[in-house]
Amino acid sequence: MRQVILGKTGLAVSEVGFGAIPIIRLSFKEAILVLRRALTRGVTLFDTAHLYVDSEEKIGRALKGERHRVVLASKTIKRDRQGAREDLELSLRRLGTDYLDLYQLHQVSQEADWQALTGPDGALEAMARAREAGLIRHLGVTSHSLEMALRLVETDLFSTIQFPFNFVEEVAAEKLHPLAQARGLGVLAMKPFGGGLVDNARLVFAFLRQFPGVVPLAGWDSVARVDEVLDLYETDNAVTAADLAAMQRYREELGDRFCRRCEYCQPCPQGVMITPAMLYGVVAHRMGPAKAAAFSAKTMESVRLCESCWECAARCPYQLPIPEVLQKHLEMYDAHRQVPPEEEDG
Ligand code: SF4
Ligand code: SF4
Repeated sequence: MRQVILGKTGLAVSEVGFGAIPIIRLSFKEAILVLRRALTRGVTLFDTAHLYVDSEEKIGRALKGERHRVVLASKTIKRDRQGAREDLELSLRRLGTDYLDLYQLHQVSQEADWQALTGPDGALEAMARAREAGLIRHLGVTSHSLEMALRLVETDLFSTIQFPFNFVEEVAAEKLHPLAQARGLGVLAMKPFGGGLVDNARLVFAFLRQFPGVVPLAGWDSVARVDEVLDLYETDNAVTAADLAAMQRYREELGDRFCRRCEYCQPCPQGVMITPAMLYGVVAHRMGPAKAAAFSAKTMESVRLCESCWECAARCPYQLPIPEVLQKHLEMYDAHRQVPPEEEDG
């Protein structure tokens, strides 16, 4: 597998990295097999987050003894100094390492996030100290809001930016990637499969490989899926007219009706967790009904508080009919709560 330099971090990483969300649903034994397969086939960048349940421990166990060969990246969603420091310390323990190559401020999309991070006792201060102490080598940031991502890049505080990028969400290619690259940031692409919206790996990576300066973080949940993608990297890339037509069909099918996770719609005065609730359909598709209902219980129970005021919909740049989608997802969730886990597994 080809190595690329991740912007001004100077880190050499495999041209495709491992994104850890899908190993959440695997057992430790299965996750270790998948992670080791990726390593054996040349993947050296492993990206996870404090939020991704037990994925840090799984990575820590799978890569024990391989620290010198891999680049480890994690994230904190905490905005305050103490919380961010505690998350970092726990990530280090879970991953079984005394430093992280890259630590990222997770999902910085709203103004309130930025104010908290940069204010007195904000997480940025904790990150500066952690870097001085050698606990992290480089600081990165992730976002789902294009406007905020552009702002974050312009601060020159970060060495990497991670943003969704795939053939149904390609807006980053226009301004964000050129700006980040001009300023020397490493560019990481989250959600190469559109967060589960696209299932054709060949098409997904035929598109992404046209952007060699962007490192996709592929989420894998089986050895076969690791091989499927990494086999592609052993061939020359070609995007045919038929591929372009197939990508266009996906775009037309999805239209503008899917949630981009930008969070402009939030906050809800009633406390509805709008963005994750908007994504319930995708979660159910990826996890299966019973597991999705258990995983999203807190989110979906909050939807019961919705008063259909449409305030959120007025803020959505994609004009999504949010209250209607939320009600549809609530009905789906209620149906999924009735599905016994054994029936789904069988
Ligand atoms: S429509 Fe529902 S989710 Fe949206 S702001 Fe109003 S109460 Fe909140
Ligand atoms: S519902 Fe609209 S505003 Fe809210 S996160 Fe999704 S795309 Fe963004």
